[in-house]
Amino acid sequence: MIIPAAIAVPFAAALGLVFGSFATVMAYRIPRRESPVSGRSKCPACGHTITASENIPVVSWLLQRGRCRHCKERISVRYPLTELATAILFVASVLRFGVSLEALVYAAFFWILVVLSSIDLEYKLLPNRVVYPAFVAGWMGLAAVALLDGAPERLVGAALGAAVFGGLLFVVGFIYPAGMGGGDVKLAFVLGTFLGYVGGVGVTLVGMFLSFLLGGVIGVVLILVAGGSRKSQLPFGPFLATGSVIGILAGVPLLSAYLGSF
Ligand SMILES: [Zn+2]
Repeated sequence: MIIPAAIAVPFAAALGLVFGSFATVMAYRIPRRESPVSGRSKCPACGHTITASENIPVVSWLLQRGRCRHCKERISVRYPLTELATAILFVASVLRFGVSLEALVYAAFFWILVVLSSIDLEYKLLPNRVVYPAFVAGWMGLAAVALLDGAPERLVGAALGAAVFGGLLFVVGFIYPAGMGGGDVKLAFVLGTFLGYVGGVGVTLVGMFLSFLLGGVIGVVLILVAGGSRKSQLPFGPFLATGSVIGILAGVPLLSAYLGSF
């Protein structure tokens, strides 16, 4: 059965909005050690239980002008932005991988990166209880895709990617522990797996380069704008995630354009 893009893309967008909303719940509850799946969400300011009509991704936030309907306390713009970002990533996964199990596995991976980036931005922390399951589930998902596609050799690329990205950050963390947290190193093994599956060591290097470029450029801009010192520790997880997502979506053409320019 061939599902046309005209159906798959809006479906992915809608699913992305819903899962983006769920990502904000996860990012709120996991660091607080609350159950991510049980109980309705409440307004953090007044404790008012959020009703279904107040829980429509993006729309509710716009209709309520970014405030709790009950206590009028501000609701962060991060909520609708997270929902939109997840929708964009789900659509991008379908456009990149077609309507396939591979698109589903990569969309799930992107969703975990949204959760981890949100937690890291707020708490400067990449919890093991998200990163470890992501690594195991990622390998299981990619192994299923490789078997289904009759391309087991791509798992070798995934292993090489994990070794290169994880290994390099491990060395950086060893030499310069203040600059690279243990969570970043563990996440790099997951990112390298998904980059390597797409295009081996080459695409992994593209993702790594973009991660460091984004982190470095934005880090310098923030130091210049805010006058903060390098010690005002910027969380690195979101940059690793963003660079890797770009590497996964565009790494193959970026790499061949770069190599072709010599
Ligand atoms: Zn409230």
